[in-house]
Amino acid sequence: MNVMSDEEEYVEEKPFAIEVAKQGRAVCKKCKQKCLQGELRIAKLMANPFGEGKMKAWHHINCLFEQFLKQRATTKRISGPEDIDGWENLSEDEKNDILERVKDCESAFHTKNGTKASNSPKKKSPPKTKNPKVEKAEKKISKK
Ligand SMILES: [Zn+2]
Repeated sequence: MNVMSDEEEYVEEKPFAIEVAKQGRAVCKKCKQKCLQGELRIAKLMANPFGEGKMKAWHHINCLFEQFLKQRATTKRISGPEDIDGWENLSEDEKNDILERVKDCESAFHTKNGTKASNSPKKKSPPKTKNPKVEKAEKKISKK
């Protein structure tokens, strides 16, 4: 029997990476300020214009999520932890914080674009009491 190693070498490339900055040299691609040492930063993996492979475009957490709101709907966003390399190195607090942001960003994005989040839970739409009588009354008034 051929017993394979437990360790699978297959590494899926993730579109984003997150880490605590070991040095404070990386410059945020959005605001052009440095990502300070010891702070959490997040990178978008981009095609490297200078060669093969991918390069990481670092962003402040805030900046990346702001960026998401400005980009087109078809441009890749973070949809969950499975998109982020280094996720497992985060503390529970950090994970929760990022997940909150992902969620907020998604709903803000869909609000802005008038689309609906595919994973939106059953919506409790606030009961809009349409009172036809009031509407008619208003029309009459405005006609005058
Ligand atoms: Zn920034």
